Amino acid sequence: MNIILLGAPGAGKGTQAVKIAEKYKIPHISTGDILRKNIKDGTPIGLKAKAYIDKGALVPDEVVIEIVKNRLNEADCKNGYLLDGFPRTVPQAVSLDEFAKIDIVFNIDIDLNILVDRLSGRRVCASCGATYHVTSYSSEICSQCNGNIIQRNDDMPETVRARLKTYTLQTQPLISYYADKNILVNIDGNTSIDKVFEDIVEVLKR
Ligand code: ADP
Ligand code: ADP
Ligand code: ZN
Repeated sequence: MNIILLGAPGAGKGTQAVKIAEKYKIPHISTGDILRKNIKDGTPIGLKAKAYIDKGALVPDEVVIEIVKNRLNEADCKNGYLLDGFPRTVPQAVSLDEFAKIDIVFNIDIDLNILVDRLSGRRVCASCGATYHVTSYSSEICSQCNGNIIQRNDDMPETVRARLKTYTLQTQPLISYYADKNILVNIDGNTSIDKVFEDIVEVLKR
């Protein structure tokens, strides 16, 4: 099964992606994680991407398309994969259609006014990328790997506003792009993490 998770920043894509990847034993491919790893390692892609990410803008299409194209060619993607945070623009989706066959797109639908709390309270592990929220996890040490818990630069309030605007202008049109192809499933993202996951699993069972 080749799956896309679509949704605004903070909708819960990354959180659900970890659970889906574990249950269905498919690789979780997050362009955000790949870009952050490149920034950390100081690669040419990382150097280019950082300025866009820090502004709350999107990294140019050709950069992320190249990343995903290469990643999907790896052997572990043969029996399915889960894309989290890609595509994010119509040109990315059109390009993806040229090298991949997507079976289902989950749109995690959420009230935009919850998102600011989700994003400003988000904390991540600097080592393994595990995601937490301040209201449910107060330790400064990652429970998965003992790494340090930090706040992402782009989760600061000004950048969050820019990212939501970017989402509305550039990513939201993908909802009708995939609805027109009859592969879109809307999931209510305003419920608990477990309930959202149950709803996704229910659809995948069919
Ligand atoms: P995305 O990958 O879509 O940007 P994340 O999965 O990183 O979103 O989630 C954003 C923040 O919201 C994180 O702090 C996460 O722990 C929290 N979160 C995710 N899903 C839920 C949910 N259903 N209910 C409450 N908080 C959630
Ligand atoms: P979120 O979890 O909030 O949805 P991500 O971790 O997916 O955020 O992405 C963080 C940033 O990385 C984005 O704001 C954007 O700058 C960049 N990025 C990630 N995926 C893409 C993509 N498909 N196209 C362009 N930029 C991307
Ligand atoms: Zn960790």
